[in-house]
Amino acid sequence: MSVLRVEALQTHFFTDAGVVKAVDGVSFSLDAGEVLGLVGESGSGKSVTGFSILRLVDPPGRVAGGRILFQGEDLAAVPERAMRRLRGKKIAMIFQDPMMTLNPVLRIDTQMIEAVRAHERVSVKAARARAAQALARVGIPSPSERLSAYPHQFSGGMRQRVAIAIALLNGPELIIADEPTTALDVTIQSQILAEVQGLARETGTALIWITHDLAVVAGLADRIAVMYAGRIVESGSSKAILTQPRHPYTAGLLGSIPGHGSGRARRGEPLTQIPGMAPNMAHLPPGCAFAPRCPRAADLCRAAAPDTTPLGPDRALRCHLPLEAAGAAA
Ligand code: SF4
Repeated sequence: MSVLRVEALQTHFFTDAGVVKAVDGVSFSLDAGEVLGLVGESGSGKSVTGFSILRLVDPPGRVAGGRILFQGEDLAAVPERAMRRLRGKKIAMIFQDPMMTLNPVLRIDTQMIEAVRAHERVSVKAARARAAQALARVGIPSPSERLSAYPHQFSGGMRQRVAIAIALLNGPELIIADEPTTALDVTIQSQILAEVQGLARETGTALIWITHDLAVVAGLADRIAVMYAGRIVESGSSKAILTQPRHPYTAGLLGSIPGHGSGRARRGEPLTQIPGMAPNMAHLPPGCAFAPRCPRAADLCRAAAPDTTPLGPDRALRCHLPLEAAGAAA
């Protein structure tokens, strides 16, 4: 059984300017130990998808349709009290800014011990030992001593590691990581990516890694789902998406990564860019939302939005005129 199954999720914001369909019919599933990269530009709906799973969408937004099944249980039917127990225990979230997790005026040990004891009846000593173990796991040196420090005594990268350690504290079945390495330098970012991937494999934790950067999930995710304007426009194994993108938007994202594989910019060549801006979600164009920016757009695309077409057991695409698969006749 999948750890998480999202079926036709719709999260809408009912604003004065109109209904913003931030998430519009998103479906995916995730098994234990699996890493899903949820990729797209700002405003594509990926973070709102994460918040919807945790039921953290505030008015004027709300889940307007679809189902979210966690370990087979429909999260919409879970009472708020039980949902609070689920958050941080079975489903954890890592935010882009670790200070969304950390309280600046409390020592790390106070915060981590509280995070353990909020979900389990264990002694302070046992909770502290578990906290030190979690810090060691994410590569913080001298974890027992560092527990007594305040958040401002850590560097940005180390603070993010502490936030990840807190997410791991209660052995969650699912972690939703919302651009947790975006603000970090590349070296720290790759260290954290490698560590988190190792931890997910080791503990069997399913992981959703939300990012705007396909390069980040290239070495991390088992599967990738590319979002545009609230919808998944292409999904499949990382290998398939990275080596044979079929959707023009995915191809555009890949083309903007320096020296990334065949067909992409090599040293000395200009990077490709996707023309135009992400659409105004309150006023999406008719038909395919990507049409105003798509080099392949035709009348058909402007007339009707494409449906999701399965391309195999684990590959799907939403495009009227997809790119040819490598090796296929043009
Ligand atoms: Fe481009 Fe048409 Fe495909 Fe949309 S449906 S991505 S406009 S080719």
